[in-house]
Amino acid sequence: MTMHIQMKSAPILKNFIGGKWVESKSTVREVVFNPALGEPLAEVPLSTREDVAAAVAAAKEAFRTWSRTPVPKRARILFRFQQLLVEHWDELARLITTENGKSYKDAYGEVQRGIECVEFAAGVPTLMMGSQLPDIATDMESGMYRYPLGVVAGITPFNFPMMVPAWMFPLAIACGNTVVLKPSERAPLSANRLAELFAEAGLPDGVLNVVHGANDVVNAMLEHEDIRAISFVGSQPVAEYVYRKAAAHGKRVQALAGAKNHTIVMPDADLDQAVKQIITAAFGSAGERCMAASVVVPVGSIADALVEKLVRAADEIKIGNGLDEDVFLGPVIREAHKERTLRYIELGEQEGALLVRDGRKDEAVRGPGYFVGPTIFDHVRPGMKLWTDEIFAPVLSIVRAKDLDEAIAIANQSEFANGACIFTHDARAIRKFREEIDAGMLGVNVGVPAPMAFFPFSGWKKSFYGDLHANGRDGVEFYTRKKMVTARYDHL
Ligand code: NAD
Repeated sequence: MTMHIQMKSAPILKNFIGGKWVESKSTVREVVFNPALGEPLAEVPLSTREDVAAAVAAAKEAFRTWSRTPVPKRARILFRFQQLLVEHWDELARLITTENGKSYKDAYGEVQRGIECVEFAAGVPTLMMGSQLPDIATDMESGMYRYPLGVVAGITPFNFPMMVPAWMFPLAIACGNTVVLKPSERAPLSANRLAELFAEAGLPDGVLNVVHGANDVVNAMLEHEDIRAISFVGSQPVAEYVYRKAAAHGKRVQALAGAKNHTIVMPDADLDQAVKQIITAAFGSAGERCMAASVVVPVGSIADALVEKLVRAADEIKIGNGLDEDVFLGPVIREAHKERTLRYIELGEQEGALLVRDGRKDEAVRGPGYFVGPTIFDHVRPGMKLWTDEIFAPVLSIVRAKDLDEAIAIANQSEFANGACIFTHDARAIRKFREEIDAGMLGVNVGVPAPMAFFPFSGWKKSFYGDLHANGRDGVEFYTRKKMVTARYDHL
């Protein structure tokens, strides 16, 4: 049994502006719950435009010196930050589990993914290099130089309170920008700790600012003339809204959105391997992952055996507080999200899908936390709400297909196109899947094919709005602008 983080009384979170912890101007606050216990952890202020303006002003001031700080010096601060994250790994993982609900193992993995982003960003001296051609004409040369943009903003979701902010601020800052981050109001604690540790690593005041809140903060950011770029990760309707509004205000924007990821299982697949991976992908982090497997498409004769094995494996899952040993499935984020998920389960039955594992019957569902047991529907058909909507919970739909063509056609009908997987050892099937599937991140015998920090994180269709993705060289492109110099040297 591991220790749970208990707050004596729910503290009111502060914003981090210009290197200081400051109270929001707002008196409106929301309770941050520990979803495993249904108890308050903290209160988060829904900050005002004034708070955003103060953070942007601090970031703008800091930009003047940070943007001219030698790149290797910036990199060294990232190296120290990376060291501190490693030293505080366990503490950060506990904090993530406490505010988000995911299992400690999932949270530990999230910290690892966050650290990898910092490690990538620490390579900034190489990443920011430009390019030159010494002889574009007689006595003439041309060079491309990279510069930061200025103040950039990050707006993040509840499901990865550390990793998703880490997709944004380390690289943006490494490239010489200064940042205003608005974490999810449903999981805001990790961001404060990250800001604290980055400051401890030597980051100058005002380079990273955190403003807590919700819609008003986002709108103030989208409209603020001194914010040059917006990185957003969250649900599809909000991503589309942010993309349109940020663009209307002349900003560079990348908006990563929702998902409905399909996993195809071919008749030749190693079933045990596939089941193990699908269980992790569908029910890990309580299904609250943009890369979650929410639809499985068994092809041909394999379907009955696969469903039977999935149900058996789901029965073995330990549900509970993610800080308790061996717990695999923690709660969903809020009571309201639990209720919404239960309504989807009812709806699935009404739509005529076959409920082969009913997650409402697991003991933990009685509370006090916001638990939903692993739920599996068989004989789901495209067009059902179970299939169209991102439920973002431990609910898995099985859509049976007669062959690979049909399986790919089913997946491609979805309006989302974040990830897609195939389980098979047939090279022709793998190649066909790779060429014909509409999705940005593919897995071959891998259940959660989330790319590492040095590659772009790349959804398609309604899973992404913008052109430059998060992370990797795309991230460097996003957070820099280029200057071209064409020069003539007469009489050399
Ligand atoms: P959300 O859209 O509710 O919130 C995301 C952010 O937007 C939060 O900071 C929130 O305060 C803000 N926000 C919410 N409603 C707003 C509004 N009307 N106006 C302005 N701002 C608003 O998302 P969530 O529930 O926190 O996160 C889950 C979603 O994020 C899922 O859809 C998931 O697929 C998606 N997600 C996508 C990726 C990806 O890489 N594509 C990664 C992680 C999560």
